[in-house]
Amino acid sequence: MADAAEPADLPGGVASRPAGQPSGALPRRLVLLGPPNAGKGTQAQMLCRTLAVPGISTGDMLRLESGSGSELGARLKTIMDRGELVDDATMADVVRERLRRDDTERGFLLDGYPRTLGQAETLASILEAAGKQLDAVLAITVPADELERRALARGRSDDRPEVIRERLKVYRDKTEPLIGYYRGLGLLREFDGDRPIEDVGRDLLAALGVQRP
Ligand code: ADP
Repeated sequence: MADAAEPADLPGGVASRPAGQPSGALPRRLVLLGPPNAGKGTQAQMLCRTLAVPGISTGDMLRLESGSGSELGARLKTIMDRGELVDDATMADVVRERLRRDDTERGFLLDGYPRTLGQAETLASILEAAGKQLDAVLAITVPADELERRALARGRSDDRPEVIRERLKVYRDKTEPLIGYYRGLGLLREFDGDRPIEDVGRDLLAALGVQRP
């Protein structure tokens, strides 16, 4: 499957150094967690740029495939337009393949994966097989009425009110349990997403030990 998110490289293939980070900083393996419209995409872009790690948005990857005219793409589009989840086995293939690429050696930021406990376990075993583990799970929380308001203002093809409601329900049923799961593993960091983008971003960076210049 094609990849929507390219690493934050400078022209000429020189990796940019994260602002305020010494060279040779440890790879950062991060998951960004939160309900639809919590602002994950915006924060993911900022974090990837600042940390110089590739952002892996499964939503973007699936949308790219669904627009490709392939048979798989058509199947994915039907699922996404209903606000349902693509099955764990398909997602495991997508993510396993993406994490095999060399650019993830310096770390990565997963956005939109894992979304179920099964996916979280799959991710752990993919990483374990490579002798790696997650460093942190960054969870952005936003109250439900604010999420609905944001979704209605956005206008993507899966942003119809009944689909929005379905996606929120799926989040609560399937994805929210990951908060407790990662808290139990000592990996969870929580952030109040009902604030200006810059404030949330500053707190995310601070939690990762990055001071903005
Ligand atoms: P948002 O960021 O708005 O919550 P995404 O762009 O991450 O949504 O995902 C859009 C859709 O793509 C989801 O509603 C779902 O159908 C599908 N999808 C994305 N990631 C996954 C995943 N990890 N597991 C299953 N389905 C996924």
